[in-house]
Amino acid sequence: EREGPVEGRETRLRVVLRVRPLTCTETRRGDQQVVHSLGDGAVHVSAARHDATFGFSAVFDAGASQESVFEGSGMRQLVELAIDGFSCTVFAFGQTGSGKTYTLMGPLAQSSTHPASPALLGLMQRSFTCLLEQSRSRGSDLALSASYLEIYNEQIRDLLSPGPACALPLRWSKTRGFYVENQLSVEFESLEAIVSLLLQGSQRRRTSAHALNRHSSRSHALLTIHVRSRAAGACPGKQGTLCFVDLAGSERVKETGSSGELSVEANSINRSLLALGHCISLLAKPRGRRTHIPYRDSKLTRLLARSLGGSGITLMVACISPSSRCLSETLSTLHYASRAR
Ligand code: ADP
Ligand code: MG
Repeated sequence: EREGPVEGRETRLRVVLRVRPLTCTETRRGDQQVVHSLGDGAVHVSAARHDATFGFSAVFDAGASQESVFEGSGMRQLVELAIDGFSCTVFAFGQTGSGKTYTLMGPLAQSSTHPASPALLGLMQRSFTCLLEQSRSRGSDLALSASYLEIYNEQIRDLLSPGPACALPLRWSKTRGFYVENQLSVEFESLEAIVSLLLQGSQRRRTSAHALNRHSSRSHALLTIHVRSRAAGACPGKQGTLCFVDLAGSERVKETGSSGELSVEANSINRSLLALGHCISLLAKPRGRRTHIPYRDSKLTRLLARSLGGSGITLMVACISPSSRCLSETLSTLHYASRAR
């Protein structure tokens, strides 16, 4: 494990907040806007019986562009650290419909022949561009590859594998730590190639074998970019990673099903989001005061153990709706995210 250039609690874990605009439906039915940015990373929630202020490294309000989220969240630094051999992770956290996928990938293009407008590209595409530019300016001494996994009901599935969906085992070894057996890792050299992998995988995620339309909001999707720099002269090779995690919706899942299936689902979502919140809040403590970090509590935290516990940066983008109708989920997201600071 490399000792990091980024020390101290301020920089290892960064939590930013994004408030999406009211949607047309919300505006039409007259929803009140209950979230207001105060500037300087502070946000204020005011509604009937609630009046609270929360602080973050940065707050992006409804008017913030995709570009300003990329620049203002410090994403560029995570890309640079990954190139330098560190492991960095970005999470999008929030209830379903709060803008997690939009923040990570923009409005999803229907196909690579109908790409989204460049201004709307998300953190992922902007990071890929940054990575490829760096790679070119270094005379292409970087080897880039991607893997794309989904965790649903504590089962791991490879989103890049064209075959039928089957659960992949999660193993542990002394040299590798936790790893997924038989996971595909696909090399890429261009933006088109990686965006096409992302689209294929996201498509597979939506039309899943589970055939539940709520499936994608109930699963976690992890896209990992492996950045390998070849040894050059006296410099040894380095291997860094940049992981983008589109988390399952954080809303409390209602257990109305009679089959019991829903409750398995609800349990596994809650378990992994709780485990993640727990690990992150422990990691936010100064290094010397850290106790044992319970990565083993869920597959999500096991898969992210190296990345969370390493010397890179973890960025959490908490996403919320400004609507009065989402108040209770918004408050729970704000509490979760500010606990991580
Ligand atoms: P989630 O992934 O959290 O379920 P989405 O990213 O799918 O939520 O967003 C829900 C809806 O809101 C989508 O129609 C999306 O295009 C829209 N949306 C989300 N964030 C923004 C934003 N910052 N600006 C404009 N539209 C947004
Ligand atoms: Mg989504």
